[in-house]
Amino acid sequence: MDKLTVRDVDLCGKRVLVRVDFNVPLDGDTITDTTRIRASLPTLRHILSCKPQALILLSHLGRPKGEHVPAMSLAPVAPVLAQLLGDNVAFSPDCIGTESESAINALPTGGVILLENTRFHRGETSNNPTFAAKLAQHGDIFINDAFGTAHRAHASNVGVAAHLLAVAGLLLENEINYLATALEDPKRPFVAILGGAKVSGKIDVIDALLGKVDRLLVGGGMANTFFAAQGREMADSLVETEALDIARRILNTAGAKLVLPLDQRIADSFSNDAAQQLAPATSDVPARWQSLDIGPRTIDRFAQEIASAKTVVWNGPMGVFEMPNFALGTVGVARALAEATAQGATTIIGGGDSAAAVEQAGLAPQMSHISTGGGASLELLEGKALPGIEAIAEH
Ligand code: AMP
Repeated sequence: MDKLTVRDVDLCGKRVLVRVDFNVPLDGDTITDTTRIRASLPTLRHILSCKPQALILLSHLGRPKGEHVPAMSLAPVAPVLAQLLGDNVAFSPDCIGTESESAINALPTGGVILLENTRFHRGETSNNPTFAAKLAQHGDIFINDAFGTAHRAHASNVGVAAHLLAVAGLLLENEINYLATALEDPKRPFVAILGGAKVSGKIDVIDALLGKVDRLLVGGGMANTFFAAQGREMADSLVETEALDIARRILNTAGAKLVLPLDQRIADSFSNDAAQQLAPATSDVPARWQSLDIGPRTIDRFAQEIASAKTVVWNGPMGVFEMPNFALGTVGVARALAEATAQGATTIIGGGDSAAAVEQAGLAPQMSHISTGGGASLELLEGKALPGIEAIAEH
């Protein structure tokens, strides 16, 4: 990687300002999933081992839109981080201004402090230069370890880099290594799997991947739009009418690279307890029925492609995996990926719902890499330059 990382710089005696991704799910004051906090620990431990003057943490949580929304406070994160880190973690109820400055100054040498949600200020998402300068005043050097927001040019990941040397944290470095390398120089066969609800949000990634992969397997609701574009009656299935032309264009140009489901699990309503049937992709979906998952023949076909691959990238569930009766396709694909990893393939999960599905299936440790950023990983797969990564200094 040509970007500078936390291992390339001297942090001793410095005030180290770190942008982490602590955008954790909260139920009241309780953090229901600590994955993102745990994902930051290698970088934070590395920094502390370098004997800094202070470790100052910035993050956003939710979308408070520039308002102070108590339900989106980062305060509950500080004690959880302290426990995981085995160190005291102070908290400042604002991320800029005198309150944060005195809290930082009051830290013991090598102390850790978490500053309140950067998005409580409008200047965060508008990348306001004055706000960015105030954040940057807290540190002598800036480390970005928040991959989840790397596709956004905000003050706490891009704006601060105008004032401080910006380097990548270990989590960000890992994401770049896996996702960028997968595209630049993949070991072949290279198979991508796309699912989820909509074609429209993933057109750029489909186009970019078709230029690079040996096979593109499409499942989930997305596949319905391709079937409808082929003239199949999809009845009550989720179909994006406004994306039909795009689907036709992709079908006409993709050739044998694009693999659609051979069969689908259809239901008589959008419910876990709905009556269900298997429908081959060659026949119409009956009136008032809808496709909610891929069928067993498709799982086998996709598993064969995955088993022959040396690199696999997956984004988007194969069906409505939130309902156990329609999670079989998603779990089947997750199992096929776990087996491929065991056979030496590199398997990359592109964040969001597919990451949740892999976790839910208990297969997370059997993947080569699970991205911490859904939107950011999609944009990397699209071949786009991400502002949060662009802002990092190079060797
Ligand atoms: P996305 O954000 O585009 O990756 O979409 C994820 C969502 O797609 C999940 O909430 C799934 O329940 C939903 N989904 C996947 N397959 C289907 C389907 N066949 N019909 C309706 N929704 C689906």
